[in-house]
Amino acid sequence: TDVAIKRALLSVSDKAGIVELAGRLAKAGVELVSTGGTARALRDAGLLVRDVSDLTGFPEMMDGRVKTLHPVVHGGLLAVRDDPEHAAAMEAHDIGAIDLVVVNLYPFVNTVMSGADRDTIIENIDIGGPSMVRSSAKNHAYVTIVTDPDDYTALYDELADHDGATTLPFRKRMAAKAFAATAVYDSAIGSWFAFADQGETFPESFTVAFSLSSTLRYGENPHQNAALYLPGGPASPGVPQAEQIQGKALSYNNLNDADAALGLMAEFASESPAIVILKHANPCGVAQSSTLLEAWRKALACDSISAFGGIVASNVPLDGPTAQAITKIFTEVVIAPGADDAAREAFAAKPNLRLLLIDELPDPARPGLDLKSIAGGMLVQSRDNGVVGEDTLKVVTKRQPSEAEIADALFAWKVAKHVKSNAIVYAKDGVTAGIGAGQMNRRDSSRIAAMRAREAAESEGWSEPRTMGSAVASDAFFPFADGLISAVEAGATMVIQPGGSMRDEEVITAADEAGIAMVFTGMRHFKH
Ligand code: 5GP
Repeated sequence: TDVAIKRALLSVSDKAGIVELAGRLAKAGVELVSTGGTARALRDAGLLVRDVSDLTGFPEMMDGRVKTLHPVVHGGLLAVRDDPEHAAAMEAHDIGAIDLVVVNLYPFVNTVMSGADRDTIIENIDIGGPSMVRSSAKNHAYVTIVTDPDDYTALYDELADHDGATTLPFRKRMAAKAFAATAVYDSAIGSWFAFADQGETFPESFTVAFSLSSTLRYGENPHQNAALYLPGGPASPGVPQAEQIQGKALSYNNLNDADAALGLMAEFASESPAIVILKHANPCGVAQSSTLLEAWRKALACDSISAFGGIVASNVPLDGPTAQAITKIFTEVVIAPGADDAAREAFAAKPNLRLLLIDELPDPARPGLDLKSIAGGMLVQSRDNGVVGEDTLKVVTKRQPSEAEIADALFAWKVAKHVKSNAIVYAKDGVTAGIGAGQMNRRDSSRIAAMRAREAAESEGWSEPRTMGSAVASDAFFPFADGLISAVEAGATMVIQPGGSMRDEEVITAADEAGIAMVFTGMRHFKH
């Protein structure tokens, strides 16, 4: 089943390594056939090469759309050589066998990413290339297909070990890679058509090919296996690319938490220095201040117990003093838009700490899809990119909020958007005072948030919990007045919530009776 390589067809967009490969093949006496650009590159390097157009008797035409789509090429690739009828057809039509095909495709994804116009993108859909790849891979009993320049070395080794021939297992392995490559290629084209070109949010069907990025030590729990896959197609615009500077490999939970921390931090882009401390996908302390170190101290004071083993994110590059302070408590991951030398040095003293750096914070208002698996299917929704500003707030109480109360309310609201429902967040002076997350009723979330604030006051030695005079955000409307009343009891003087309950009047009356201010956002931020 070994097949000696006598004739090779080389047609590559990515010309890296092709001259060396062709040179080695020529030296071994292999006849080289190539398409226009590839042939030119080889000739420039002084190699003898035959043009495909010479083989087919047709010129390459229509801007290169038709180069290798010809029976002489595909017959030479697909013929079952031991089959007498196939052999007779080859003989009758003067079709020569092709033993090795080296093809890589027009760079469709890179063309999309470069922001090219539609015509250029369409022109970069390779047709002849995938056809040759599929013909060769189907006929791997005789033909060797190589689609990845990284496999040239494996090809050299194979040829060296088998006297200028390839073995069936090698050809099979390359064929499997080849079909995977054309599948990824076509799925990138398909999803570009569906999502980018037609702008449909929910096309009839779609394929998105994901490629294995890394296997993870385990999943959410040690008995679960896990891996990270990244899209084979164009990355969604605005998705940050993080670089890991140091630390242990990221775990499944680290990745999930870092993503949540970054999503929340993005709400504070281009504002004064801010720190998020997050645990199990919920923030446990968020603070903004004039310096990053101050923000860290304030965020930590919100809930220093939960911060242990947490994830820390900042909205500005990390500096030495802040990094020093962060390393004082056990932290799993730190993620930030940069870190100066002093910060890097401080983190280096904690080699296990995972430091992730990104170029810039993503835009929370960017479009995109949110996918979630359920048994037997997938739920798809547009991402929660709703951003509430001061101008969209509607004051519903007799008392008007002060500027400071509005600022705290908006701060609490941004945090509440990233807290699992039911979410209640108290904030004062740009710091979370208490966070209640993930409860099945709103009153319990409110109580837990108030309890956290009391405990923080005790452990920090404050005279009163920071819920006194705070603003409180609720991710969804208060269905009854009780949740609001318990917030008032905790000291809140300002409420921000979507509104829209059947009992809004009851809740507004309770707010008026308590003499507090309340605004409606008209937007809900459930996060389950
Ligand atoms: P070259 O640079 O050699 O002129 O072209 C190489 C590229 O052309 C490869 O990426 C290959 O996949 C692609 N290709 C080969 N044959 C055809 C064809 O018949 N039609 C199209 N559209 N592309 C082809």
